[in-house]
Amino acid sequence: MNEVFNFSAGPAMLPKEVMQKAQGEFTNWRDLQCSVMEVSHRGKDFIEIAAKAEQDLRDLLSIPSNYHVLFTHGGGRGQFAAVPLNISKSEDTSLHLVSGSWSKGAVAEANKYNNAVVIGEVTDKEGMHFVPQPSLANIDQSAAYYHFCPNETVDGIAFDWLPESGDVPLVSDMSSTILSQPLDVAKHGIIYAGAQKNIGPSGLSVVIVREDLVGYARKETPSIFDYGLAAKADSMYNTPPTFSWYLAGLVFEWLKDMGGVDAMAKRNAEKASLLYSAIDSSDFYSSKVHPHNRSKMNVPFHLANTDLNELFLKQSQEAGLLALKGHRSVGGMRASIYNAMSVEGVLALVEFMREFERVNG
Ligand SMILES: *Cc1c(COP(=O)(O)O)cnc(C)c1O
Repeated sequence: MNEVFNFSAGPAMLPKEVMQKAQGEFTNWRDLQCSVMEVSHRGKDFIEIAAKAEQDLRDLLSIPSNYHVLFTHGGGRGQFAAVPLNISKSEDTSLHLVSGSWSKGAVAEANKYNNAVVIGEVTDKEGMHFVPQPSLANIDQSAAYYHFCPNETVDGIAFDWLPESGDVPLVSDMSSTILSQPLDVAKHGIIYAGAQKNIGPSGLSVVIVREDLVGYARKETPSIFDYGLAAKADSMYNTPPTFSWYLAGLVFEWLKDMGGVDAMAKRNAEKASLLYSAIDSSDFYSSKVHPHNRSKMNVPFHLANTDLNELFLKQSQEAGLLALKGHRSVGGMRASIYNAMSVEGVLALVEFMREFERVNG
């Protein structure tokens, strides 16, 4: 069989080099005759790689020194609750830009803890999904924070502008886009990401939070979600997901070897352009997302003849192109092409799509 390419939205593929390194030291890590997942998180060996992972992430994203980097439990959804519990009071307002299903989910969770207000929402333009930019005049400057998601994993909707918020701290759910391109951390109050899309295995989430927002958790905040406790304990208030943290560290090393986020941004733009060109150049396939808002990470596309969906999925899998089924709420296909996906993988998909159209079109 040819090489297999995995287009899963998450948990997603990891770089082969990283997996092979982990495999090579799986049962005998650092000559300790045991696995990294079998040692204490408080031992010198683990603390060393945990600190290196943080430093590498700081280097990759040029994270300013007045930001904490936290490695926590609870995934992306954990932060839907942790953010309001840490930086708002129950009588406060939080502002939300809803660009797709994840940012919508964040509203519902925030609403349990504060007064969540939607200030902008994805709409239709020329028959396609489009994200309008809320104007600064509509931003309540007394709000506790302004939440948005620049890349919607399910819908394949993205935007590259930073919302204008005045003095209200921006909170960004970057679960499916972090490390895919350069990022101005200093313009944000909080950036968070579940690991299983672009960082490493599930079970870990990364929170980058500005110092002045830490230390205000509500009394009822579960201790494991309290940014202040996490920061004070170097993310080891309780046992962290050690194996996920270790593997994330290997991914950060791989990213540095690959030339960092600038090199990744180039490669990701090339991959996305190959795939969208293939979709746009044929009436057999279509995208429902406006060209201004097309994600470079998650690319949903639809067959004009939906009767062919099952055959497309069956034959693509046989061709070694895995996990192309779209999310159940969107239908059609979705190819997730995170950092770990090679240009070759996208070329193989495009080639398959052309051949499938030739035979069935
Ligand atoms: C996957 C995802 C989440 C949820 O992550 P969990 O780790 O499953 O809680 C939240 N936001 C975005 C943008 C995601 O892609």
